[in-house]
Amino acid sequence: MDTALRSARPRAVLTSEHEAFRAQFRRFVEREIVPHHRDWERAGCVPREVWRKAGEQGFLCPTLPEEYGGAGADFGFSAVVVEELARVNASGVAFQLHSDIVVPYVLAYATEERKRAWLPRMAFGEMIGAIAMTEPGMGSDLKAVRATARRDGDHYTINGSKTFISNGQNAGLVIVVCKTDPEAGRKGVSLIAVEEGTPGFTRGRNLEKIGLHAQDTSELFFEDVRVPVANLIGEENGGFRHLMHQLPQERLIIAIRAATNMEAMLEETIAYTKSRPVFGQTVFDFQVHRFKLAEAKAEIGMFRVYLDDCLARHMQGELSGEEAAAAKLLGTEMQNKWLDAFLQMHGGYGYMAEYAIGRAWTDARVGRIYGGSSEVMKEIIARTL
Ligand SMILES: Cc1cc2nc3c(=O)[nH]c(=O)nc-3n(C[C@H](O)[C@H](O)[C@H](O)COP(=O)(O)OP(=O)(O)OC[C@H]3O[C@@H](n4cnc5c(N)ncnc54)[C@H](O)[C@@H]3O)c2cc1C
Repeated sequence: MDTALRSARPRAVLTSEHEAFRAQFRRFVEREIVPHHRDWERAGCVPREVWRKAGEQGFLCPTLPEEYGGAGADFGFSAVVVEELARVNASGVAFQLHSDIVVPYVLAYATEERKRAWLPRMAFGEMIGAIAMTEPGMGSDLKAVRATARRDGDHYTINGSKTFISNGQNAGLVIVVCKTDPEAGRKGVSLIAVEEGTPGFTRGRNLEKIGLHAQDTSELFFEDVRVPVANLIGEENGGFRHLMHQLPQERLIIAIRAATNMEAMLEETIAYTKSRPVFGQTVFDFQVHRFKLAEAKAEIGMFRVYLDDCLARHMQGELSGEEAAAAKLLGTEMQNKWLDAFLQMHGGYGYMAEYAIGRAWTDARVGRIYGGSSEVMKEIIARTL
């Protein structure tokens, strides 16, 4: 990362290989993503072609073992992808959801035959992944999921509807969270994969949001969808446990995105305030703003150190659910606080969509809600007190 926030010290958690990969991926982002992102925001979706290009060039699924088409690299490479997309606020490009949230479920819990069928296509961007937990009547309380999967010989029949599903329009494979034992609460939850084109599986609207305009977020409907039992991801009725095991990585990713995005927006704001004349000086010359920026630099810099420690421990397999919740809570709350202050320093231009800060501000709001809301993060932390 090349922000003025960084001291001369390199980040201990990342090696020169990570930084070389960053340089490559940055070139891809500057060439294939940045010039088009505004058009995708208007279209409400990122074209599948971009996913294929990223896959061909090895930017999807960095941690996936080579035998399934990945690079077999460590999670530091995934972090670099998240950081580079956050740096330019390419908020519609949900590579991380695919590579580091959906693919890990398939890798950890699917049958060998399904892994061989799906994972190479996912690594090459030919099959985009989504995970469907949330329903119209249920979000935070995962055990209250209403969608059902009834076993019928060697098939499941799935019924239910989901909402707010990222990659919903583009997804070729959806991991559906449903009840295989509706009376058993969290012990009746299972994860079952549904491929696009399966009869009875339909997509609803691409939902209109206040931010993340380039990201397709959709309703999904399942009406008597029959899938082979082999599509079960993990143990029948073991889905809640699998979710609890994987969710910390999702939360860490959201925290990494928040940290890098607020660093980039601080840079933008320093440059803007230094260039904007007002009352015969620049905005930056007013102590009230300069001090705010100094405070932001100190606080955001402190968060980076904490987050890199979380990242290092995650790479060692030592990050707890509570620590990931703390990173997400702190990162997203801090991002919202600072982006709001930075927008204010841009005056009316901050409210214009053509300025990065305005778009980043609306995009950041969801960080406090999805992947488990800030209140749910506090519950997770509070349980350990
Ligand atoms: C843009 C976007 C993308 C998303 N992508 C996905 C996706 O890909 N897959 C998916 O499954 N879901 C996705 N979601 C859904 C998201 O995870 C949920 O919106 C989120 O978990 C909150 O659930 P809810 O909206 O039902 O809110 P509710 O659960 O109804 O919560 C309402 C309020 O109650 C608070 N609350 C809940 N529980 C507690 C508690 N125990 N203590 C105190 N307060 C509490 C919440 O914090 C919130 O403020 C996405 C959402 C958005 C907006």
